Amino acid sequence: MAFELPALPYAYDALEPHIDARTMEFHHDKHHQTYTNNFNKALEGQTALAKMTATDIIKKVTTLPDSIRQAVINNGGGYVNHTLFWEIMGPNCGGMPRGTIGDMINTAFGTFDAFKEKFTTAATTRFGSGWAWLALNRNGKLEVMSTGNQDSPLSQGYTPILTLDVWEHAYYLKYQNRRPDYIAAWWNTINWRRVDELLKAAKS
Ligand code: MN
Repeated sequence: MAFELPALPYAYDALEPHIDARTMEFHHDKHHQTYTNNFNKALEGQTALAKMTATDIIKKVTTLPDSIRQAVINNGGGYVNHTLFWEIMGPNCGGMPRGTIGDMINTAFGTFDAFKEKFTTAATTRFGSGWAWLALNRNGKLEVMSTGNQDSPLSQGYTPILTLDVWEHAYYLKYQNRRPDYIAAWWNTINWRRVDELLKAAKS
């Protein structure tokens, strides 16, 4: 049994003009596919892990054998991180979060703008390759964080519900070195309804 590349839940050009179709096609079909293939390769012969979900494997990554741990952190992380990333974006999205997610952001950060500023700073200042996150901590409180490479907050006991890929492959074709412009445009793609569902699932 092997993990499969999840289908993109919308067309390559659905996030235009904020994220261009060519970037989406390469990012999903090439980069995410490669993480998927290498995740499966790392798990070959690991019968004890065969029945676990990808998420559960990343949660327990510190307990894995030395021989495969880093390969799973890199490629299993790449697999689950991108899966979440596609899910929390969509066409005709963006704007202000409503419902539970909107209320919890206000409780945790004061205002939506304060949250936006904190998340943007986390994404902008992540040196090199990595991700910015909105995640629930062990106490069920929302936190903004960033991680390097393909490290996932799942491995630190957090449940991520929103994420932004700030690897250069996520934006270079359209934005070249202008990571801040990519981040500013990305806010227009957030599917807050889906984030709200993920929040409710994480809390239940
Ligand atoms: Mn990526």
